[in-house]
Amino acid sequence: MERRDFLKKAGAGTAVAAGTLAAPAIVKARTEIAMVTTWPRDFPGLGTGAQRFAKSLSELSDGRLNVTYYASGERVKPFDSFDEVASGNAQMYHAADYYWKGKHPGWAYFTAVPFGFVYSEINAWINWGGGQELWDELSGEFGLKCLTCGNTGVQMGGWFRKEINSADDLKGLKMRIPGLGGDVMAKLGASPVSLPGSQIYENLMSGAIDATEWVGPWNDSYMKFYEAAKYYYFPGMHEPASMLAVGMNKSWWDGLSKTDQALIKAAAAQEDSRMMSEYNAKNGAALDKLITEQGVQVREFNDDVYDAFGEAAEEVFEEVRAHSELANRIHESFAATRRDVGRWMNLSDQPYLRQRNRVLGVGV
Ligand code: CA
Repeated sequence: MERRDFLKKAGAGTAVAAGTLAAPAIVKARTEIAMVTTWPRDFPGLGTGAQRFAKSLSELSDGRLNVTYYASGERVKPFDSFDEVASGNAQMYHAADYYWKGKHPGWAYFTAVPFGFVYSEINAWINWGGGQELWDELSGEFGLKCLTCGNTGVQMGGWFRKEINSADDLKGLKMRIPGLGGDVMAKLGASPVSLPGSQIYENLMSGAIDATEWVGPWNDSYMKFYEAAKYYYFPGMHEPASMLAVGMNKSWWDGLSKTDQALIKAAAAQEDSRMMSEYNAKNGAALDKLITEQGVQVREFNDDVYDAFGEAAEEVFEEVRAHSELANRIHESFAATRRDVGRWMNLSDQPYLRQRNRVLGVGV
């Protein structure tokens, strides 16, 4: 009797299991996601990182979160990505949020600001210093929800046709430099312009602009700026670690299950560190090739130029703070973390790297 009962139960169990495999009791509907971006298709780092994030999301969800990826211009123009998602026409964008500083200057803090954070510092602010909460408040005013999804690390100061030995050398210079960094250049008498990546090379070659910044050796060598300008300055005061964002329509985000929100957060956090590590892995070799194969002259901005940048940045920040109560609160939070984390960096990463590279003879 006992054995027969056992077989019966086992058989029943097997039948249920087989039935489950053949036809799942619960079939979860696919969530279609249209993702627009500000990057050309397959552009190294920025574009390939955004594409990798889209793929990760599909893989992590076993295809249930189905992302259709649109590079810049494939669905909307790069700088129209914001409105496309805020309006609900698309669910997600991948972009640098400082492109939206014309809508509110607070957006600049969630990519990079002059004299701002390096990579480890900005993540300290976002994750532990109240940065995400302020980003939620700002983005919420526009019907968006944003997460960190990539970073370029410290950017180079830019490509110049002449040496920059004093702040006076910046006067009258037409330079492609977006964000608050462009406002700093304007204070010093330069004429900043904001151009999407796809239009910089032709403007530099034709002489429509005298100088440009873009990212760093890996990305800049791909853009061939060395054909028009030989002086390559470091370090950029304007983008010490440009954080990229995935921005989502907030009503859409709020309607997702906790599981789907967790999957998106996981994929975004994964891409944040993957992209940063790719920049760090590839910038050194690219710099070497620029110097040895293209004859690029690497120069460091001197203290006088940096002091002038610093004074101009303070003026820019005063204007940002006067914009609104929220802009002021974002700046105050940013400045408090910069002070605390900066002090720690002064006796951790910075002196360690200086001593390590000095002992090993690692030069520029
Ligand atoms: Ca840049």
